[in-house]
Amino acid sequence: MKGKTIVTLLALVILMSGTLLGCASPAPMAPPGEVPIVSDYPDLKPVADFVGEENLSVLHLLGFKASERAISKLGFERGDPNILALTDAGYIAEIGDYTTEKALDGIMMTAGTSRGRGNLVNVHKPYNSPLWFAFFDKKSKDCVYLEADSRVIEDYLNREKTDRDTALTDFMELKDNEIFTRVTKENIDADKLLNNPEAWQEKMVAKVFGGNEFSLFTISNLWAMGLPNDFLKVAELHDHICPGLTSGYLIAEYVKENLPTPDPRNEYTVIAIPPWCKDDALIQIFETNVGHKRLYVKHLTKEQMGQLPEDAKNVANIFIRWPEGAEKGDGIVVAFDWDKAYEGSGTSPKDLKSFDTYKWWWVRLKMDIWMMDYLDKPEELISTIKTFTVNSEELENLKAAGVNPLVELGIMP
Ligand SMILES: [Zn+2]
Repeated sequence: MKGKTIVTLLALVILMSGTLLGCASPAPMAPPGEVPIVSDYPDLKPVADFVGEENLSVLHLLGFKASERAISKLGFERGDPNILALTDAGYIAEIGDYTTEKALDGIMMTAGTSRGRGNLVNVHKPYNSPLWFAFFDKKSKDCVYLEADSRVIEDYLNREKTDRDTALTDFMELKDNEIFTRVTKENIDADKLLNNPEAWQEKMVAKVFGGNEFSLFTISNLWAMGLPNDFLKVAELHDHICPGLTSGYLIAEYVKENLPTPDPRNEYTVIAIPPWCKDDALIQIFETNVGHKRLYVKHLTKEQMGQLPEDAKNVANIFIRWPEGAEKGDGIVVAFDWDKAYEGSGTSPKDLKSFDTYKWWWVRLKMDIWMMDYLDKPEELISTIKTFTVNSEELENLKAAGVNPLVELGIMP
């Protein structure tokens, strides 16, 4: 209390002496503990107002600086709905021991993109992934990518702990090339990429977006086509959009219709056999995670795949629904029609693993776009191979290690 009174008195004396010396309009004093940084950088006001100026961190300023740079490079105004921001900040990428979620508020309040507006995408990366930001313009299809220099950010975060005011002021004075290791702008229009894949392949090899090229051009182009928000959440977990993931979204839509339950997280048992990208969509949409013991994953060897009969060669998942208090569960085995997807999109499965050429991403992007027309008609690509019922003992057996549930259900020999 005593210290606080002295500080207040001191502030009063300084203020009065300023007036006595004839200052026409003395600059407003920042209350103790607050940084007067907004008076130097008025554009920081939205983020400072949102988080409270006394809580401003280097990470907010980083989100601010990335957004400001994108605004000038793409030429948009705060809140433009044609802009999509993508970042791994806060999910789960870290800088040293620091989590990075504060950068999200810096972007939201500076670029005006948000979760609620459906134009702030948080891409899942591991904890030690570089921290990056990307901004995509739906009209021009230009994309600006910025990758933060972890060492610099960590240094300022350390300084912020002991002397926040100077750390923030000094950070604001840094030039972009002192904060970001990479700032690139590329046109990622899907039509252009598909029509001239060799040219884009050179940029893929050069990692113009730090290795995040496939994530960024698939999510951005499909968002521009009107991707529903639940699909956007699926893409966030999976990190990119590929036909495999879309097949999972379609399976979920199909199962909602054909094996509905009011409580998927407790009433479904899902067996992924074989697993592929689709299963991330199912986890997200039904909350049937491995950790909830709602998803069991079973690999099929090449030999086992070869033993699948023709009508089951595209087998994807087994769903069992067990209503609360029921004596038995009922289930379906579903398949995704890969043949139709390749044929319809004008692609070939032989290109899928052509990782030395443009073909691997070309085939995926082409299928992604073609499949967008099927999001609301899953039955055109998803089918039921078999329906069945099980008692609790049989269900335990289907999930068990060492058991092939497709053999148990009489689908394969
Ligand atoms: Zn995938």
